Amino acid sequence: MLGITRVGKFVEGSSFLNCRDRGWKGRVVGAWCLSCWQTRRGGQDKHKAPTQPLSHPLSLRKRGPFPTKPTCVGTTGKSKRFLAGLLFSSGIALLAYRSHSLNKSGAVGAIASGTTILGMGGWPWGLSLVYFFVSSSLLSHFRKRDKLRTAADKFSKGSQRDLAQVVANGGGATLMALTYGLTHHHLLQAGFAGTLATATADTWATELGVLSPYQPRLITTGERVPTGTSGGITLPGTTSAALGGLSLGLIFWAVGGFRKSLASLPLIALVSGLAGSFFDSLLGATVQAMYYCPSCDKETERRIHSCGTKTQPLRGISWINNDMVNFLATLFGGFMAMGLQRNTNRAR
Ligand SMILES: [Zn+2]
Repeated sequence: MLGITRVGKFVEGSSFLNCRDRGWKGRVVGAWCLSCWQTRRGGQDKHKAPTQPLSHPLSLRKRGPFPTKPTCVGTTGKSKRFLAGLLFSSGIALLAYRSHSLNKSGAVGAIASGTTILGMGGWPWGLSLVYFFVSSSLLSHFRKRDKLRTAADKFSKGSQRDLAQVVANGGGATLMALTYGLTHHHLLQAGFAGTLATATADTWATELGVLSPYQPRLITTGERVPTGTSGGITLPGTTSAALGGLSLGLIFWAVGGFRKSLASLPLIALVSGLAGSFFDSLLGATVQAMYYCPSCDKETERRIHSCGTKTQPLRGISWINNDMVNFLATLFGGFMAMGLQRNTNRAR
């Protein structure tokens, strides 16, 4: 098929369990099956009745006859999912663009990210992304006027998300999906849920926390800071973060069919989402670049203040803006979720 000598293995009859039961090597071999692109975890469902032997380029087992046209449902399944992902995320991105939740570059980013996530991961992944996106967009429109009055000044961007914000919130999740598509490592499901749980938790906390009647406290020192300050936390904000993380985990688990192996995922999403959003606040309070507007005597994330004045650097590292902080925090949540899932598996 590729003009190179390949080492393969012969699968007898219609059973196709060989790819998934060889631990790490089996996973890699399965993931790179040239006939179907994916064989491992999805293996059993995707290859209900292969009538031909399948060849694996990396398999170290005995050489066997190679099929010219293996019949795998995997390929069609995957391309269908990519197509569904493209259509689905285009539809949602268009709606979001129309309702001013995304600008043009943001819509393009959302389509790319949505297609990859649904194509590589499947419906639980895709619908979790939709849940994050829709809930965040709805919340950012919720009591918009009150928010504009109290905190709009501090934030660097409005409620219309651009490409950088899409990457900041969904980039980590997209990376997890890509890696999962290639390796089919089961921990990446938790990793994906953790990144998205953090993005959800953090967005909910920001959108609802600014409505808190109480002044936030800085996560590092505990001193009271004005509403909207990076690194400031409130009780309503933290509660929203916990609910955001938990609900995302529940959605992922439910759409995936309440699989027993993922039963701890809602709890893991709660913990990692909360931890990720605390990490976000911590970075916001310490290394995130903050500026000062001399004409208004105010602290802001913006380089050019809303009044039009060029702001002066106040503290933080210049290249760590809010988007960078969000991106790092989602990765933190993702890796934390993978660690938690691993320990859960071990304890079982
Ligand atoms: Zn100003």
